[in-house]
Amino acid sequence: MKERARFAPSPTGPLHIGGVRTALFNYLIAKKNGGDFVLRIEDTDSQRTVPGAEEHIIKSLEWLGLIPDEKPYKQSERKEIYLNHAKILIEKGFAYYSFDTLEDLSVMKKKHGNDFKYRHDNNIGLKNTFTLAKEETESLINNGDFVVRMVAPKNETILVNDQIRGELSFNSNELEDKVILKSDGMPTYHLANVVDDKDMKITSVVRGEEWLSSLPFHVLLYRYFDWAPPRFFHLPLILKTTGKGKLSKRDAEEQGFPVFALEWGGSVGFKEYGFLPEGLINYLALLGWSNESDKEKYSLEELVSVFDGAGIRKSGARFDIKKATWINHLHIKEGSTKKIIEASGKKFDELVSLFGEEKSNQVISLVKERLNLIVDLQKEVGVFLNSPSSYDLKVLNKLNKEEALIVLNFCILEVRVSKDSAAIKEGLFRESTKNKISFGQTMKTLRLAIVGALKGPDLFKIVEIIGTGETLKRINKLTKTLKQ
Ligand code: GLU
Repeated sequence: MKERARFAPSPTGPLHIGGVRTALFNYLIAKKNGGDFVLRIEDTDSQRTVPGAEEHIIKSLEWLGLIPDEKPYKQSERKEIYLNHAKILIEKGFAYYSFDTLEDLSVMKKKHGNDFKYRHDNNIGLKNTFTLAKEETESLINNGDFVVRMVAPKNETILVNDQIRGELSFNSNELEDKVILKSDGMPTYHLANVVDDKDMKITSVVRGEEWLSSLPFHVLLYRYFDWAPPRFFHLPLILKTTGKGKLSKRDAEEQGFPVFALEWGGSVGFKEYGFLPEGLINYLALLGWSNESDKEKYSLEELVSVFDGAGIRKSGARFDIKKATWINHLHIKEGSTKKIIEASGKKFDELVSLFGEEKSNQVISLVKERLNLIVDLQKEVGVFLNSPSSYDLKVLNKLNKEEALIVLNFCILEVRVSKDSAAIKEGLFRESTKNKISFGQTMKTLRLAIVGALKGPDLFKIVEIIGTGETLKRINKLTKTLKQ
């Protein structure tokens, strides 16, 4: 049977990292086995649907490169299918009409306490096809004033195997008769989810562990319909940086990192924060999954080939923005210049307007290994755009003034007469030896003049890019400072 996995978000909000990881693991499980990755929008609860969320989810998956193999399915367009399936269960005796109003139910809850469970055979005045007379139920059904509930069996241990957690057991007496079709004719999550997984030939259900409590209902539905259930993978939670409790948007905001894949309602997403999709994907794959190897950098294709569901851990996974940023750095450093340019958007256009396309390409390839985040470009390209506005005082104060002025002087001469940066380097070496100054010291002095500190990319490359005029201007500026 062809492997088919689905990502089934509800459009109740933007796509956050928990959702991205779920989508990713679905993708990997499907692709690993040469199968299909399906996107299903679970939008049966119109009251909880947030405008723009569906588009945000779709765009985020596109940015991440987790491209569904089929056009996204939308549950709101499949109402009839669920209704028919609810009817099948009613005919089989596994589901029934129930007529209690919300008010009735809240009275029940008050009377019987919060652990009140709706079960058709509770003899406490519930209104459903088991308790009311036939004529009454018929007229209520005709009025359309009903929900449909599934029957929860009594005194049974429901066993189900989870690929991550092993065998799980649920006591059926702790379940209630869950609503599967609401009064507006829409299915609830349980019915729609199971019917669709069957209809869409889903072989692996991969979702967050918060759905474990729904599992016994799903297992019962598979049994009632007489369908073989898929394989289940319930992923561990993503934990706060401290390792205690589930990571929330607030925790992330407090520590200044994003939770959404893309920008949403004024909150910066991972993209805008400076992640490459490859970096985020790679980090999230390592969050809750590992293999024997200690390799850390993986492309999506590599992940597809090495991923194994058996490597998913049971325990929660601590989110570590430092590690995530480090992994992102590896992808930027080893990424093609073209990719970095694409990700840097407007910043690159700015560079091009100053240096032209070719030199801008050189700038990017020169600085990319120094970037943790794409937005670091801002500070890294500064050295090409402006002469130093100040000097690192620690370095400046340590300079032997006299010696530094000699160095700057022969630097000016060499820059003027040399045809390229290799020739400058040669000239500087020669002059250093002649003046009994170490080449290291010469380089330090020149770097201070060009960059303002002892950091930055290859000095001769910078000189090449900013050109003779700007190089001389910067050397003269330090000369002047030293003479003051
Ligand atoms: N609609 C559910 C969600 O929003 C899907 C859970 C599942 O994958 O079964 O996460």
